[in-house]
Amino acid sequence: MTKVDVLIVGAGFAGIKAACELKAAGRTVKVLEARDRVGGRSMPGEIAGNTIDLGGQWVGPDQKLLMAEAAQQGVEVYAQYTTGQSVLEMKGTRKSYRGDVPKLPFLSLLELSRLEKRWNREMDTLPEQAPWTAALAQQWDSQTLESWIGSNLWTEGAKDFARIVARAVVCAEPSQLSYLYFLEYLRSGHGMEKLIGVEGGAQQDKFRGGAWSIVKSMADTLGDDIILEAPVRSLTQSEKSVSVETDKGRFEGDYVIMAIPPALAGRISYNAPMPASRDALTQRMPMGSVIKLHVAYETPFWRKQGLSGAATSDKRAFNVVFDQTPEDENCGILVGFIDANHAVEATKRGANARRAEAIEDLMAYFGPEAGQPIDFVEQNWTQEEWSRGCYVGHMAPGVMTTYGEALRTPCGRVHWAGTETATEWLGYLDGALQSGIRAAQEVQQRLSENISV
Ligand code: FAD
Repeated sequence: MTKVDVLIVGAGFAGIKAACELKAAGRTVKVLEARDRVGGRSMPGEIAGNTIDLGGQWVGPDQKLLMAEAAQQGVEVYAQYTTGQSVLEMKGTRKSYRGDVPKLPFLSLLELSRLEKRWNREMDTLPEQAPWTAALAQQWDSQTLESWIGSNLWTEGAKDFARIVARAVVCAEPSQLSYLYFLEYLRSGHGMEKLIGVEGGAQQDKFRGGAWSIVKSMADTLGDDIILEAPVRSLTQSEKSVSVETDKGRFEGDYVIMAIPPALAGRISYNAPMPASRDALTQRMPMGSVIKLHVAYETPFWRKQGLSGAATSDKRAFNVVFDQTPEDENCGILVGFIDANHAVEATKRGANARRAEAIEDLMAYFGPEAGQPIDFVEQNWTQEEWSRGCYVGHMAPGVMTTYGEALRTPCGRVHWAGTETATEWLGYLDGALQSGIRAAQEVQQRLSENISV
């Protein structure tokens, strides 16, 4: 049996970052990864001969940890294409507009601007480490975002826009989200404008060679300390150490960092059992639902029509679309998402139907030329055994105020990482890095002080 200072479960951005930090501090580590590759929710792919990201992709100027890590690994950024107008289809009517805020009726726009101010005000009342202790936490956590929309918004435009935002950023229906959790998501992502924005926002830039090349480069420095195809099935801890059983044998460490989403942590068998609140949390943080689609064309034909390639709809399944054309324009590529319940329903209909419907949606946004793709690639995250949905685990009403504290509280020798535990950019690559750094610091401190439990 291999014995190290720290075992790390999961080789996503969080786990790999934790391992790099601990190794740099002189500790011995083993990273145990279920898949046959590193990266987790960051994954490389190819369309029409071009490298693409099938998972996490964009970065914004406020995502400082990710920007710094990319620079350290020698991965450059380039700007998301934004020239031209974006397309919005609402209530069956197609409109085009400039900037991040769509052309809506005057009263809806007025309400939207008030809504953003209100969300900013409310999210600013959430304590960063413990949003469940906010003065109005109980009230906000006892309703869904949908019921909040029903009681607090009046114009159809603002209501639909709020729903689109929730689906696009959390990949869950507003009826499935606690309003408190949604506010925490806004807070950790610096507010709605940053979350949905391109210039100055979370979709401002992309990585040359893909976001996956960052985590791959980090992982390369760990060499044999990463064991692939080693899903952790059970975990046993004693007063002196912790051991895990994997498909590649048994490993022992002084501590373990679980760098996996709560929904996956809940599938591991624990001996002794986890504290009741931690166990309950893992039963109550389902993953969102999303399918990421790339469609390639001979040319980025929409650019000639004065369109940026960005499109959104209140009804269509393929409802968030961006230009993903390579910098040398060797072809045109559109990328986008089928999210929340649309992804659940589209998964039932099968791959052929999804492709036909996606092309139909693109024709509605960009005209008949969208009907002539040269390549098509989909990544259905709802069917990934080791993610079980994406982008992120979310909370329904009552979960955050009852079990939120269990998110990051260590259980004996077990420490928790993963983007779900981040206090800034929760759900994002940046948040995954933050969580890996924090968990590594926690364990490093205990190792230095030789604290047992
Ligand atoms: P993961 O990447 O999920 O890593 C966990 C790892 O643990 C996985 O490799 C998994 O295989 C492994 N594992 C699970 N269970 C076990 C087990 N029992 N034993 C061993 N190993 C196990 N973020 C952005 O910043 N920008 C974006 O543009 C963006 N877009 C996205 C688009 C899509 C389609 C998706 C899916 C995600 C997107 N994200 C984006 C989110 C981002 O990818 C994630 O926040 C981030 O990758 C999470 O990293 P993590 O290390 O916390 O978890």
